[in-house]
Amino acid sequence: MTTVGKKPVIPVTELEREAFCQSEGTLLRTRTLEEEFRVAVRWQSVPARYLRLTPEEIEQGILDAREALGAKVVVLGHHYQRPDVIKYADYRGDSYKLSERAAAESSAEYIVFCGVHFMAETADILTPPDRKVILPNMAAGCSMADMATVEDAEECWETLSSVLGDGEVMPVTYMNSAATIKALCGRNGGIVCTSSNAAGALRWAFERGERVLFLPDQHLGRNTALKLGIGLDEMVVWNPFERLGGHTPDALRRARMILWQGHCSVHTRFTADQIRRARTANPDVNIIVHPECRLEVVAAADCAGSTEFIARTIREAPSGTAWGVGTEVNLVQRLAAEHPDKTIFCLDPVVCPCSTMYRVHPGYLLWVLEGLLAGTTINQVSVPEDVARDARSALERMLEVRE
Ligand code: SF4
Repeated sequence: MTTVGKKPVIPVTELEREAFCQSEGTLLRTRTLEEEFRVAVRWQSVPARYLRLTPEEIEQGILDAREALGAKVVVLGHHYQRPDVIKYADYRGDSYKLSERAAAESSAEYIVFCGVHFMAETADILTPPDRKVILPNMAAGCSMADMATVEDAEECWETLSSVLGDGEVMPVTYMNSAATIKALCGRNGGIVCTSSNAAGALRWAFERGERVLFLPDQHLGRNTALKLGIGLDEMVVWNPFERLGGHTPDALRRARMILWQGHCSVHTRFTADQIRRARTANPDVNIIVHPECRLEVVAAADCAGSTEFIARTIREAPSGTAWGVGTEVNLVQRLAAEHPDKTIFCLDPVVCPCSTMYRVHPGYLLWVLEGLLAGTTINQVSVPEDVARDARSALERMLEVRE
């Protein structure tokens, strides 16, 4: 099956979130696909034979398929993938590191991206046409990326141009957005950023324009702009469901940052109260959070940064230190397992993985690998060339900007 740049929109239902969150202990163990489907998730259909395979049968199948496919396939794994999937990754990282890795890939014919849809799109855009990018489960989207549709973003762009004048606003989009949004930025002289280089990308944008439209994560935009000295009174949030985004023309003219009304459903679970409780329990604890968290959470933390920054900071910290972490629980639990000499815990007592990342069950990975063995490319993500060309300009600008 080939999808041509079109992502199925499958909402993250409360039911699905509830099914994979638990109030204590460790993450759910992987069950058969049939059992995981039973909690009413709406994931991509797979051939019946994959539904009842046990985790052990799936593991053996993946190992056999990898061995037979050899260097034809490289598997990339995002830090937020479940342990039963990330263990097969040849390279692990956040979206920035994995996009660099995909761009540098020169030998494998197939890149199997264990992550979410916008990451696979980005890998396709950055790799030569003869490389095929595969997403194991096409329903693995990102609720934040879905909060900015290209239709709404284009309407916003036209409105801003008519109110403020052409060339008055620089568009900046977070990596966590659809290829069509990246293309809108590329076409209009803008840039893509990640949580690793958001400050550098904003500096870059302000060297070229008076104002920035930042999509789709208002929290990353706000936290980063504050760091650069832009006041909260110089920022507005654009609500795509209201006329002029919910503002007067004067308020838009006064704003330096126009933040899209989007957020990450995982990182907005963290609260300043959780940080207070962690400090009460252990006054020596270090609090480190992701900049997709709300402003008050970032303000209450000791430091904030990308998942790569979080992983590196904890890895390099002295033995015996304690870390309360505000990011996706799969990464936090992996860091805790890899550093038993440190106390590492998730600030949120409810163990709640990113439910769209969780949609990449190892059964899907086996399915696409066995497809390749049989000569069939399942779930290729292929961005149309006109979209890819514009998105690529914004991504190439991103790859040149450091913190
Ligand atoms: S953690 Fe948040 S931003 Fe990342 S994929 Fe999940 S919903 Fe999207």
